[in-house]
Amino acid sequence: MTREVVLSARPQGVPQEGDFEVRETDERDLADGEVLVRNVFVSVDPYMRGRMTGVRTYVAPYEVGGPIDGGAVGRVVASKHESVAEGDWVLSQLGWCEAGVAEGKRLRRLDPALAAPSTALGALGMPGFTAWIGLTEIADVKEGETLYVSGAAGAVGSAAVQIAKLKGLHVIGSAGSDEKVEWLRSLGVEAFNYRETRAKDALADGIDVYFDNVGGDQLEAAFAALRPFGRVAACGAISRYNDQQPEPGPRNMAFIVGKRLRVQGFIVSDHFARFDDFLREVGPWVAEGKLECRETMLEGIENVPTAFAGLFRGDNTGKMLVRVGPDEPSGV
Ligand code: NDP
Repeated sequence: MTREVVLSARPQGVPQEGDFEVRETDERDLADGEVLVRNVFVSVDPYMRGRMTGVRTYVAPYEVGGPIDGGAVGRVVASKHESVAEGDWVLSQLGWCEAGVAEGKRLRRLDPALAAPSTALGALGMPGFTAWIGLTEIADVKEGETLYVSGAAGAVGSAAVQIAKLKGLHVIGSAGSDEKVEWLRSLGVEAFNYRETRAKDALADGIDVYFDNVGGDQLEAAFAALRPFGRVAACGAISRYNDQQPEPGPRNMAFIVGKRLRVQGFIVSDHFARFDDFLREVGPWVAEGKLECRETMLEGIENVPTAFAGLFRGDNTGKMLVRVGPDEPSGV
């Protein structure tokens, strides 16, 4: 018997712990090609909020009463797939559960000698890859340019600011607490607390590129600060995800015309063909300690809803994760 978290009600506004419940599940026998994985780390991600609304976007919605799939890292306890063996560390999409059955061909094997397995959910996984694709393919950043990153102390943002620094950019970042700002400054970022300093003032000297994780006021401030031919990599808009009515957009969109700006949204899953290129560049930076992989870790499957709701309160510095089992689960 293991446990999983299910969606018990569609969140209205800010997600609450009561929108979820933990239930027990039975394990089942494996069919050919399948693998039983015990999760060690479960990821909570802002895009999951959109899947809870019940509206189909670029990805299918979660069903009320149903499980919540998403990124997870665990150990294989039984395998009927030829390229996955008992004891392997694997990345799966099993989501918010202590254990589950996955198709072996959908798992990515991880080498714990190369990097801590949890980084496959953060700097060396989807968030880090999002940062890298946004900077390289979408914004096409150049050495010497000034980049502004909102949500800069989060999973995507902290990877973006560090990758940009390593590529020789001048980086400005915003975050919602003084502790986060202090951490960003220790990484060489010109950081400010957006709750105390208006982005408009902090960006007064102008920027070439904006990596947008937040939308809303910070996007409006970036339009004002962008220089002619500036670019926006539109990655996310977390400040708007809990709106029950759509809010009017930035009031100064005419700048897009006058300053000849290029604003491009992107979805990381469209770019997975480039994942190995990303690992070749960013993997060594992580291994050499040039890119810091900070994590905020909660414990226990029952705390996954708290971790998720915490994303919208700013509870995390770096990647928000939940440890749902030991590194060496019984059976491995
Ligand atoms: P984070 O680790 O950044 O966690 C969320 C953070 O957002 C919080 O810690 C909080 O930090 C900040 N935040 C929450 N509410 C607000 C608000 N109202 N205004 C400003 N900041 C807020 O999450 P991720 O790094 O995983 O995701 C960052 C963004 O990237 C999200 O918008 C997400 O949807 C997007 N994304 C897009 C992808 C794509 O393919 N386009 C893929 C992955 C992520 P603080 O204390 O600083 O407020």
